[in-house]
Amino acid sequence: MSDRDAKALRDRIARIDGAGYKRYREIVGSWDLPGFTLFVDHAQSDPFATPSAVHVEIGPEGTRIPDAAVGTSARRLGAATWLAARFAEAASEVRARGTGRSGEVRMEHPGQTVLPQTAVIVDARGGLEARFLVGLPGRGRRVDGAGASELLLQTIPDLVRSTLVLDPAAATGIVEAAETNEDAEALRDFLRRERLIAFVADGARLPRASGIDDRPLETDGVVPFEGPPEMRARVELPNAGAVTGMAVRPGVTVVTGGGFHGKSTLLRALEAGVYNHRPGDGRERVVTRADAVKIRAEDGRSVKRVDISGFIDGLPFGRDTHAFTTPNASGSTSQAASIVEALEAGARILLIDEDTSATNFMTRDRRMQELVPSSGEPITPFVDRVRVLWDAHDVSTVLVIGGTGDYLDVADAVVRMEAYRPMDVTAEARSIAERHPTGRREVVETGWALPPARSIEPASLDPRRGKRSTYVRVPDGRTLLLGRHEIDVSAVEQLASRAQLRSIGLAMARLATEDDETSSVPELLDRIERLLADPGLDALDPRGEPRGDLAGFRRYELAATLSRLRSLSVGGGE
Ligand code: ADP
Ligand code: MG
Repeated sequence: MSDRDAKALRDRIARIDGAGYKRYREIVGSWDLPGFTLFVDHAQSDPFATPSAVHVEIGPEGTRIPDAAVGTSARRLGAATWLAARFAEAASEVRARGTGRSGEVRMEHPGQTVLPQTAVIVDARGGLEARFLVGLPGRGRRVDGAGASELLLQTIPDLVRSTLVLDPAAATGIVEAAETNEDAEALRDFLRRERLIAFVADGARLPRASGIDDRPLETDGVVPFEGPPEMRARVELPNAGAVTGMAVRPGVTVVTGGGFHGKSTLLRALEAGVYNHRPGDGRERVVTRADAVKIRAEDGRSVKRVDISGFIDGLPFGRDTHAFTTPNASGSTSQAASIVEALEAGARILLIDEDTSATNFMTRDRRMQELVPSSGEPITPFVDRVRVLWDAHDVSTVLVIGGTGDYLDVADAVVRMEAYRPMDVTAEARSIAERHPTGRREVVETGWALPPARSIEPASLDPRRGKRSTYVRVPDGRTLLLGRHEIDVSAVEQLASRAQLRSIGLAMARLATEDDETSSVPELLDRIERLLADPGLDALDPRGEPRGDLAGFRRYELAATLSRLRSLSVGGGE
């Protein structure tokens, strides 16, 4: 018998019942409960503080996870995400009672995506570790012993047994999650092999519940995706078998169609396609190459020494745009800066929607070219850059354009959405472009070279606040608090979750503590990528403590967050 079994925990709790809340420290450590080990990693100091960090470990015999769910790393990731969602949902039903957060049990919910995350980690033999927070029960500022016994010896074991220990019915669900994720990875291999930039499977369900709810729209009216025959590709998946769908090729692709016909919904699915999705999401077989970045206008954002001269030159009063800095960008300058920053980070696919673009950045028609001579208009519109981006720099673009025909001259493929169904209208678009010339003069092409990467001073990412050496908070998923800085990331549309943003904040904090004076942005991004690859997300916690609230992120979202830091110090000035 272990001297740290359930009875020992019960006795320990009885000993501190009614004592000052801080005595909860005495239950820190591991406890061998029937079927699993409970670790109290950290005890909160009062009932209102951040709840206490807890994790459980269960061996393979205990979880009864089928071998089919853990055979490959892709399968394990799908399985772990499925378990995290299951535990998080059941935990959210646990009713708190008592002072502050007494009795709360909280696990980070993975949302719709499948990402490396730290809430549930499954090993190759089917054992697992699950990390979550609990509000240790208090009456006022005293230990509520009865509440603590119930929480730790009944509620949590019940949760563990009902969500992390699998009966045969649940085994089907976890295997499906594992296989779905393996298929998504197979689709990514398919993109590489066939040199595609995206694939949208027939039957996919793209629309979301609402603009603020990423879950699928659940109505009878959803039109399943069906790709046009001209763009059809077929792929054999390890689990789902043969799948057909729409292949998006490199180059310039224009998605057009009437208003409310599903253009933006398709583009958003491509944006989300850089991540895998859970079964039932509707986008499980929608995949986009990992270096695709959504670009939008974002007036008001901060820009630090970004060379936007390829798009905007000769601003009033002779402002230099080779190292453009502003605390308050306009629609067009923000969009230009976001493109240059994305390319600096390594993006090679741009996703752009006219709904969220600056009109004057996208194009300028013949009449405006005549009325506002180019000497008075600093903008080289994107329509005059999109070809050279592809022809000279291998940068593909997918654009949603309903309002201007100017892009028909520069598109390799044109898709028209008709009542949520895509049609390939490339040939028709070409013939229209020939019959109706726009009359616009192409702004002279000057063989545009991508600007060199910026150098930044990592120390300007200072994460300190008061007595804390690392302060990272994510109050609402649209804001990152880093030290005394507040970073608005509401326009970084491919951020998938708060856990991702939190992890980005910790990555920035880590960069700040390294002792190089300046480093190029791509070099810093590489460094973090290497860290995430090995040893992994856990390395992000400054004290090296296990935590369940982190998730994997791309270098592009890290770069975008970093670039929006108002106090960012970029080498060469400022
Ligand atoms: P557009 O960008 O062409 O104006 P949206 O993509 O914004 O159109 O879509 C318009 C509306 O139609 C949205 O409310 C969206 O959720 C819904 N929608 C999009 N695709 C589908 C679909 N396949 N089936 C049903 N509704 C859809
Ligand atoms: Mg739209």
